[in-house]
Amino acid sequence: MLSQFKVSQKKLLEWYKTYGRHDLPWRNTDNMYHIYLSEIMLQQTQVNRVREEYYPQFLQKFPSLKALSQAPQSDVLAAWSGLGYYSRASNLHKTATICMEGLPNTQEELIKLPGIGKYTASAICSFGHNQNIAVVDTNIARVLKRFFALLNPTDKKIWTNARTFVNEKDPRHHNLALMDLGSLICLPKSPKCEQCPLKDECQGQSEPEIYTKTKKKEYIALELFYGIYIKNNQIALEISRERMYKDMLILPRVEPIEDDFLANFKHSYTKYRLNVKLYKMEKADDEMVWIDLNKLEKAPISSLTKKAFKALSHQEKFQKC
Ligand code: SF4
Repeated sequence: MLSQFKVSQKKLLEWYKTYGRHDLPWRNTDNMYHIYLSEIMLQQTQVNRVREEYYPQFLQKFPSLKALSQAPQSDVLAAWSGLGYYSRASNLHKTATICMEGLPNTQEELIKLPGIGKYTASAICSFGHNQNIAVVDTNIARVLKRFFALLNPTDKKIWTNARTFVNEKDPRHHNLALMDLGSLICLPKSPKCEQCPLKDECQGQSEPEIYTKTKKKEYIALELFYGIYIKNNQIALEISRERMYKDMLILPRVEPIEDDFLANFKHSYTKYRLNVKLYKMEKADDEMVWIDLNKLEKAPISSLTKKAFKALSHQEKFQKC
């Protein structure tokens, strides 16, 4: 460790003791499955939604890797419903079947498992085993770019600086502190430098935003048409092959016919802004899956499909179709 960082490392840990997010349940456990699950959920979902809804509910249904490995994939996808990026759930399930007795404890082994990349492997090793390694997520990257005044750095450069800065005496809390600093103080816009424990040594403090300029987000507007076919109180759904909804049950796409229009609603995910229109279908294909309307809540359906049923529920035409 380079001595010039000792002062910053110490200030960072002191700040974390007082202001860190110590109440997050996955920070108060040494259960590797719980830590792993939280890291996968947090990749695309806000902390509060994970903490309050999805993390406790998922653990109640699948309390261990073994329990997860023994569950049908459709149950795992149903428990993931609403979180999006469903390949995360199928990869969790695959990993559980490979490691039902426990996860490996090295980055090299973890990274070979489905859905575990460099960040997740390092987070599991650092947060779960207190290994002396760097962790870089979006928040940490922002802090490091500013602290080291890195203009347009490559990922490799950021990871190299992260490794140089790791506090070998307490790597777990050092990484958690950097994560919280990025989330609470070193904000993307208007960082609160006056409250920052690193302000005296931060090389980018005079113009923090030039190190983390992001391109203005561009959105793509799409109009999508889905079909509704109901028979004997059951609805016909398709098994999705799209990456986003992989193995989830979705409504089939149709060509719009004006007379069959039932309802429409707006839906957004990532860069997409969708105008979704629903149409009555005349028949279902043989390979479609029939789901009882009373059991839809427990089926592996996406939030877009849930929204479709909500939009339909008040339609008189739907009651009759
Ligand atoms: S001093 Fe400001 S720019 Fe530097 S790490 Fe702290 S909050 Fe970020």
